[in-house]
Amino acid sequence: MSTEPKSKNITWSHSHVTAEERRALTGHGAVTVWFTGLSGSGKSTIATTVERQLVEHGRHAYVLDGDNIRQGLNSNLGFSPEDRTENIRRIGEVSKLFNDAGVIVLTAFISPYRADRDRVRETLPEGTFVEVLVDCPLEECEKRDVKGLYKKARAGEIPEFTGISAPFEEPEKPEIVLATAESSVDECAQQVLDYLLKTGVIPAQQ
Ligand code: ADP
Repeated sequence: MSTEPKSKNITWSHSHVTAEERRALTGHGAVTVWFTGLSGSGKSTIATTVERQLVEHGRHAYVLDGDNIRQGLNSNLGFSPEDRTENIRRIGEVSKLFNDAGVIVLTAFISPYRADRDRVRETLPEGTFVEVLVDCPLEECEKRDVKGLYKKARAGEIPEFTGISAPFEEPEKPEIVLATAESSVDECAQQVLDYLLKTGVIPAQQ
């Protein structure tokens, strides 16, 4: 799918506010923490837990969640490979804008295709894409069946369901791996926060 703009007579309008000025305003950097994993692996749970903790410490953080985005911005997209690719492309662009505005973005999308995630990594400035593999065995996700989707997928009621009838391509070199079947939600959230501290995105607590 081409990502070239359809219109020719458009130019990028540069802001008069620099990234450094925004960092001085917020007191932290802005990255996109991209959670990828099977349905029910824990993406939303961990993303919202990290968001809560960041905001409680005065950081500007915002979760972009799969189902929410599909109700609005991406309501015209389904789950075919083409639509999944376009879904992720748009989320990548939205993440880039939020980062530009100084916000730490936490995304919770299955995002099963490696090429789609790699494209987002390329779209964002170097070092600002933090890929998090939310690693949970299919059997455990299916046992959790948070939204009852696995049951429906097994019954053939949901076509192209990741893990059952559609592939999930694991990241090759994720920045973070969270073993959600072995660690608690708080431990997983802390692993993400530790990474943001270690890489200087957020400063150590004063
Ligand atoms: P996803 O967003 O990946 O579809 P959800 O976050 O909606 O998944 O659901 C994950 C489920 O697994 C929740 O019911 C959550 O309470 C449970 N869970 C158990 N352990 C963990 C963990 N370590 N991290 C995240 N979720 C966990």
